[in-house]
Amino acid sequence: MQFHNLHIHKIISETPDSKTFLFEIPEDLREAYRHIPGQHLTIRLEKNGTEIRRTYSICTEVDDPFPGITVKKVKNGYASNFLCNELIEGDILDVMTPDGLFVLETKPEAKRDFYFIAAGSGITPIMSMIRTVLKKRAWQSLSPPVWLQR
Ligand SMILES: Cc1cc2nc3c(=O)[nH]c(=O)nc-3n(C[C@H](O)[C@H](O)[C@H](O)COP(=O)(O)OP(=O)(O)OC[C@H]3O[C@@H](n4cnc5c(N)ncnc54)[C@H](O)[C@@H]3O)c2cc1C
Repeated sequence: MQFHNLHIHKIISETPDSKTFLFEIPEDLREAYRHIPGQHLTIRLEKNGTEIRRTYSICTEVDDPFPGITVKKVKNGYASNFLCNELIEGDILDVMTPDGLFVLETKPEAKRDFYFIAAGSGITPIMSMIRTVLKKRAWQSLSPPVWLQR
């Protein structure tokens, strides 16, 4: 796992207290930042001369040219408020390559059904999973949902 300085390509206000940050990935780092849906990025910041690290799930689909995270402000939280209040597009963040074992391996040929349950900012890894499943057409597309068959 390695940290790299990544430019913030775009910041999207999702709600009054949450923002999505999309990163620019240089060509030579594309492979290093390729993720499996469900994985996260770790951001390294400095607080009063001390290094702090915070983890944020990747919310974008696999192979998105601008992978991103969505951060929800936590009351009195340092990193979430710094990210949401202080940063502008073009700023640079120290970002670790993707990591994490809570992943969904999509196998389009298996044509599985998927059910997702999420709450609050826990939606972020699920967004990546849903976007990737839809993109790869990995769901059981021929049969309607069970509740429609009754
Ligand atoms: C795998 C993983 C994925 C995650 N994905 C996301 C995501 O996609 N989006 C997202 O928004 N978050 C995500 N998180 C949470 C995120 O990593 C941070 O924990 C969150 O942003 C809060 O960090 P912070 O620095 O803002 O808050 P902190 O500064 O860490 O504070 C957190 C809380 O602790 C309190 N606190 C801090 N210091 C003290 C103290 N000394 N004494 C008493 N109380 C104290 C603060 O008041 C605050 O309420 C994820 C976490 C994990 C582990």
